Amino acid sequence: MILPILIHPDPRLKKTCDAVADLSDDRLALAKDMLATMYDAPGVGLAAPQVGVLERLIVLDCVKDGDPEPLVMFNPEILASSDETNVYEEGCLSIPEQFAEVTRPKEVRVGWIDEKGNPQEKDFDGLWATCVQHEIDHLNGKLFIDYLGPMKRQMMTRKSQKLKRERARV
Ligand code: ZN
Repeated sequence: MILPILIHPDPRLKKTCDAVADLSDDRLALAKDMLATMYDAPGVGLAAPQVGVLERLIVLDCVKDGDPEPLVMFNPEILASSDETNVYEEGCLSIPEQFAEVTRPKEVRVGWIDEKGNPQEKDFDGLWATCVQHEIDHLNGKLFIDYLGPMKRQMMTRKSQKLKRERARV
């Protein structure tokens, strides 16, 4: 099922999300729907608050060409970050059609619970590292535009608000 994606500004995108307490069938179904929604958008990552669920769940797949590598993370946590940084032009499915360069640690080690309930730990680099940090930020109510200066952030917020109004009218 394709879920509607919340568009910034929305109070639900500014909330700190709760940990997923147990992997019930409906939480696994939500993860599956989030993957379908992400691929449909199309995007490389999606966090539960973007579909209005304030729980710590993200999905991602940063493979551009080749076989998909869907990744579902419950309660993801950044365990370590490199001092070396990387700049990527980021976008967000909740801030459509807008992009800006964001500097983040180049490599991160992430721990999470997988769909089978098993703890996982992995190092991410490149686009995967940027994406996983961007999605975990969503769980803490943080958007990529929060890394930008106030002028740029306000401009992008206004544009997003306008687009949201236009879409609501259709
Ligand atoms: Zn996003």
